[in-house]
Amino acid sequence: MKAIRRFTVRPVLPEPLRPLSELARNLRWSWHPETRELFRSVDPEGWRAAGEDPVRLLGSVSAARLAALAEDRRFVRSLTACAGDLADYLGGRRWYQEQPEGLPRAIAYFSPEFGITAALPQYSGGLGILAGDHLKSASDLGVPLIGVGLLYRHGYFRQSLSRDGWQQEHYPVLDPNELPLSLLREADGEPARISLHLPGGRALHAVVWIARVGRVPLLMLDSDVEENGPGERDVTDRLYGGGSEHRLLQEMLLGIGGVRAVRAYCRITGHPGPEVFHTNEGHAGFLGLERIRELAGEGLEFEAALESVRAGTVFTTHTPVPAGIDRFDRELVAHHLGDDGELPGVDVEKILRLGMETYPGGEPNLFNMAVMGLRLAQRANGVSTLHGEVSREMFAGLWPGFDPSEVPITSVTNGVHAPTWVAPEVFRLGARQIGAGRAEDALTVGGSPRWDAVADIPDNEIWELRRELREQLVLEVRERLYASWRTRGAGTAELGWVDGVLDPDVLTIGFARRVPSYKRLTLMLRDRDRLMELLLHPTRPVQIVVAGKAHPADDSGKRLVQELVRFADDPRVRHRIVFLPDYGMAMAKKLYPGCDVWLNNPLRPLEACGTSGMKAALNGCLNLSVLDGWWDEWYEPDFGWAIPTADGSATDEDRRDQLESAALYDLIEDRVAPRFYDRGESGLPGRWIEMVRETLASLGPKVLAGRMVREYVERLYAPAARAHRDLEPDTARELAAWKARVRAAWPQVAVDHVEAVAATAPNGHAELGSTLALRVRAGLGGLQPDDVEVQAVAGRVDAADTLAEARTVALKPAGGPDLEGRWVYEGPLALDRTGPYGYTVRVLPAHRLLADGADLGLVALPTEATGEGAGVLMR
Ligand SMILES: *Cc1c(COP(=O)(O)O)cnc(C)c1O
Repeated sequence: MKAIRRFTVRPVLPEPLRPLSELARNLRWSWHPETRELFRSVDPEGWRAAGEDPVRLLGSVSAARLAALAEDRRFVRSLTACAGDLADYLGGRRWYQEQPEGLPRAIAYFSPEFGITAALPQYSGGLGILAGDHLKSASDLGVPLIGVGLLYRHGYFRQSLSRDGWQQEHYPVLDPNELPLSLLREADGEPARISLHLPGGRALHAVVWIARVGRVPLLMLDSDVEENGPGERDVTDRLYGGGSEHRLLQEMLLGIGGVRAVRAYCRITGHPGPEVFHTNEGHAGFLGLERIRELAGEGLEFEAALESVRAGTVFTTHTPVPAGIDRFDRELVAHHLGDDGELPGVDVEKILRLGMETYPGGEPNLFNMAVMGLRLAQRANGVSTLHGEVSREMFAGLWPGFDPSEVPITSVTNGVHAPTWVAPEVFRLGARQIGAGRAEDALTVGGSPRWDAVADIPDNEIWELRRELREQLVLEVRERLYASWRTRGAGTAELGWVDGVLDPDVLTIGFARRVPSYKRLTLMLRDRDRLMELLLHPTRPVQIVVAGKAHPADDSGKRLVQELVRFADDPRVRHRIVFLPDYGMAMAKKLYPGCDVWLNNPLRPLEACGTSGMKAALNGCLNLSVLDGWWDEWYEPDFGWAIPTADGSATDEDRRDQLESAALYDLIEDRVAPRFYDRGESGLPGRWIEMVRETLASLGPKVLAGRMVREYVERLYAPAARAHRDLEPDTARELAAWKARVRAAWPQVAVDHVEAVAATAPNGHAELGSTLALRVRAGLGGLQPDDVEVQAVAGRVDAADTLAEARTVALKPAGGPDLEGRWVYEGPLALDRTGPYGYTVRVLPAHRLLADGADLGLVALPTEATGEGAGVLMR
């Protein structure tokens, strides 16, 4: 029989156990080992059965057990200690509170997914887990963040396999009442409502759930409410599902509804409200439009509102893969954001222009969320140094006339939340070395001195730890594999072999991630015989653990999964290679520490950063990876291996796979395995252990999300808050009017003439140390010298006269205007390097409120023959 209605009966906790409820409802338990231990001790069996989820655990404990615990003095003492610790954590001063004045009052952080714990499955992969790690680190550092996302009733999906290895998707229903969430309620107890207008007089309603992530509230909008029609109810049904219109509605709810949820939260709780809005990838980009609408309601014109909003917005782009960027039909956006839909009072044509791909090759009929993100944010970044470069190239078309290196997109390399990802066993070893308090600081705030202590840990302790972790993984793998085969239809009698899968003393390689094609799940299968030899090597075998979900609509990804599963099913190798279904945070936490080597072989440079290798490194697992994302930045031969790549050449993809897979096999056979199995007199692999030590000491302090969040605060949030404060309505109007004036005048701005006189060259030659006196005549088209900067740009030149590593020198106005409205600029240019050298001159708009000279995308360069000495080259 099926129940016609379901609800959750909350346990009534005996008085001495009341604090358990608060501990279960603040997700800090997910990264606080003592609190987790406390919950485990409530009922060790039940803890496991509840998937290590305190809310579920408390829902399942018997009244008798609760009564016994209430009498258990030791338990109550631990409970009091954990509750006290949480109170200190929530109320105390932390890193942010020790910073100089002027930091933002609060920051709203929007993301389509958040991976905080397996108990709140609202993520698909790296983007969401990064967002979760960002919130947790912000909490640890005391950064006043408000997270904003959606609550998906089915999360992403659960993966299992059919008998023949085809991915199966399941969509279990998540009941918010059984999750660590509470409803945002008005003072009268009614749930706060968020509503959006849809075309045709329809409406989209949502309630707001709050997850407590330490000190950070995470607001999650949920459209599954009775007032909605069936279509609208399903808007938040699942993550990255549905067609284009479904996606657009999700993103409207996230961006527009999200700002309204923040406003409701602040009104109800008395929170002073965010000064900075950060959008994690383009999906939440509509938040900028909603803020423009708010300002329009206060009487600010579109252009001035845009300036104010831009100043306080940070946009992070996460992918150079076009499929990772949302693009909507222009008509669809017009339909939903036009007069009949949302954002009344904001001109839809102006909205559409924000998302237009105005660069060569751009699609005129598409609305690009990343492009809008860049136009709505004065500050933007990629997520590793290499990805910053790639993004500047990729979006350079939006700043015509500027070199890609000048495109105003910076980078902040991702990090991972160490208290979440470091195995308790690893933490204990560190704590033994330097004390628990300092070890905790090392993980949250960072700072390399604390990590240097790793150097003093003896070889045998490191090796014992590595073996223990590997052995735990082996047991975990067998359990999961057994369960998977049962789901695939195998009977117990067929599965005796599972007990012999993997060996706790064999070199273990891990590979787990989503399965988009650029990550090349099956590169390792390229030469199956060769792989088989590596797995079955008589003295230096390797074993491989693989996991990953393909997007439900991606059949080619599912074919890759199937290929891998079929290979791993082969009785000849099934004890040495496994595919584990349903990769998620719970599995990941066991996988990274238990592996010796973390493999990553994306098509360079398509991996924007990659974070699983960072989590592995924090547990002493060595990286073996293509030099892409973060590994390109921090790789050193002292602690890992770089798989050589054939990118940038004309090599086709097939040939590239061929070359790169061969390099991978060679590395494993010639370098990785020998080092692992090279045992000295003590029986320990000394050089391997040294690499583990180097991994921890060198990478440990860098890969922390604490380092990342501090960078966001210092380099992006703080300047954005200052810029936003400067843009009071009148100033925003002034800036908008100035921009309009500059844009109108710009076609007349020109560099008319450039002269260079060798001012100090002793004998007329360009020599190191001599100086050129530049004299430039520029037409400003009615603008004043204050409106522009005239610059010399000088540096090395290549054979095609392209400037590299150029530096800019501002020239000074020296007279004018002449009868034709032209001004003279002058300045010295020191020849400070030898070899081929060149310069040019340009005019840029200049205003104290611009974050960057390229802000408007306007530049005037000399025409070819602008005068003697223009663009002169000295060889
Ligand atoms: C860290 C993590 C990812 C992201 O890994 P990448 O290396 O960035 O692909 C994906 N899924 C889970 C469960 C993770 O923990």
